[in-house]
Amino acid sequence: MAKFDMLIKGGTIIDGLQTPRYRHDIGIADGKVVEISGNIAPETATRVIDATGKIVAPGFVDLHTHYDSQLFWDPWCTLSGWHGVTSVVIGNCGFGFAPCKPEDRERNMMSLVRNEAVPLATMKAGVPFDWVSFGEFLDSVERTPKGVNVMSFVPLAPIYGYVVGTDEAKDRAATDDELQQMCDLIVEGMDAGGCGISAQIMGVEGNVQLDFDGTPMVTDCMSHRDLVAFSKAMGSTGRGVAQVTGSMDFAEVIARESGRPVIWNALLADGALNQHGGATVLARDAIARLRDLNENQGLRVLPQSLTTNFASQFTFEDYNLADAIPEWKEICTGTIAEKLEKFKDPARRAVLKSIQDERGGLFAAGYTTAEIKVGWIPLDVPDGLALQDRYEGYTIVEIAQREHKHTLDALLDIAVLGELKSGFETKMIMTPPAAMKEVATAPMALPGVSDGGAHTKFVTTGRYPTEMISYWVREHGIMSLEEAHWRLSALPAQAAGLKGRGTIAEGAPADIIVYDYEELDSLPAERAWDYPAGEWRLIQKAKGYNYIIVNGDITFVDGECTQATPGKLLRHGTA
Ligand SMILES: [Zn+2]
Repeated sequence: MAKFDMLIKGGTIIDGLQTPRYRHDIGIADGKVVEISGNIAPETATRVIDATGKIVAPGFVDLHTHYDSQLFWDPWCTLSGWHGVTSVVIGNCGFGFAPCKPEDRERNMMSLVRNEAVPLATMKAGVPFDWVSFGEFLDSVERTPKGVNVMSFVPLAPIYGYVVGTDEAKDRAATDDELQQMCDLIVEGMDAGGCGISAQIMGVEGNVQLDFDGTPMVTDCMSHRDLVAFSKAMGSTGRGVAQVTGSMDFAEVIARESGRPVIWNALLADGALNQHGGATVLARDAIARLRDLNENQGLRVLPQSLTTNFASQFTFEDYNLADAIPEWKEICTGTIAEKLEKFKDPARRAVLKSIQDERGGLFAAGYTTAEIKVGWIPLDVPDGLALQDRYEGYTIVEIAQREHKHTLDALLDIAVLGELKSGFETKMIMTPPAAMKEVATAPMALPGVSDGGAHTKFVTTGRYPTEMISYWVREHGIMSLEEAHWRLSALPAQAAGLKGRGTIAEGAPADIIVYDYEELDSLPAERAWDYPAGEWRLIQKAKGYNYIIVNGDITFVDGECTQATPGKLLRHGTA
């Protein structure tokens, strides 16, 4: 009998604890690292991985994902699984599928259609919905084969849906009795294995993450009284971490009332996005306040920093990233037929032109209409082939000049000709390295925001660990590789209460990546028709990861999936 199931030989270990790198061998048995030594004999292992010249590091811990539906048809939770992530946390922003009464399932799924851009048909085909309670949901996740470890927040939106009703809770305050029932459900969810509570609290004005009908999400309407009660309920369990997307004020309230850590989204680099979609406070002011909360106030608030450069590909079929602008939100809601009529309407276009002229750009992310490129025109529209010839690969300003029209007309005409399925691509907005360094290396900053499993047709920010190492560390040196691995694995594991993971240590689960530092990179974004019900999503794969290992089993070899599903449900952060 071999002593080890696997031996990782000759690699350079970066253990996630900011220990300076060293070259050693790692012996793995029964899913755990059992020996780290200088020269382990190959004959002692069933399988030997030659890691000479490679970095051997802990798998990444992705705290901000929305794989709540996708994990049921994609065990590896890609993009994350492709990018070295070995543990994901779901149930972020207050969104999720449990608890949910059978008659509310469609309404529950509808709440993720616009906000997170997961198609309804995909969820209907792919989500088993063999649960009512949150505990039963976790049981279902546990039964499902997984290629990554999964931990879940207890999201607050379904709790409102279950007790008050999603739409009713937007219009009226919960009664005292209902509030108590919701607090009981939080404690019940925590007892079943949830890792804390989560909510998006973005208010009504300027909110870019809305419900399917253009109204705020139910958690956006949450009162101070409810927030305090929910925080106290979590605090009463003596464990857990909260996640909140919104103002830092809410993070402070939760931290104060619960006594527990809070992950706050998001810390944005100055200049990363413009004033219509970026931070409303300077990074240094946000960081100073975070320091004060953590160092002086007895509160634990950890910021998640947005650490990817931003580009977007999109169609207007279900575009929501302009929702912060009321006039754009109005034309981007409704059925496809209704939207087509609005897109053609000269009066609406006149208003949108004046908005565009006033802003000098479009939407939320600082890109101008002129620079947007036509990425694709579908073939299944009248004259599809001719339209492809005429438009694909050209920028909007080139087309506008050629056709002697306003850039907004050029954009919307092509959207209409493609029956809203025409694809557009923005330029990559590059964050200056000094600005990224400020937010990525801020005290307690957690790199991200992945949003894996969400915004599936627009962005590929799930690539963030690869971009951190291959771009921000290797190309720009914003931090050491040792610090990057700490921030990508050990620190998020600690922050979220994921116990015993995120480092390479004897006795710890063998969640390990072996990669080529010089080779590591994200591959170009592409469309993949791999979602249930024939739906497509934007994907971005990686190169340079030689082995991705989860609980001692290899899930990917040089980007190829082994079909292994060694991932576990991490109830209470343990498994
Ligand atoms: Zn989110």
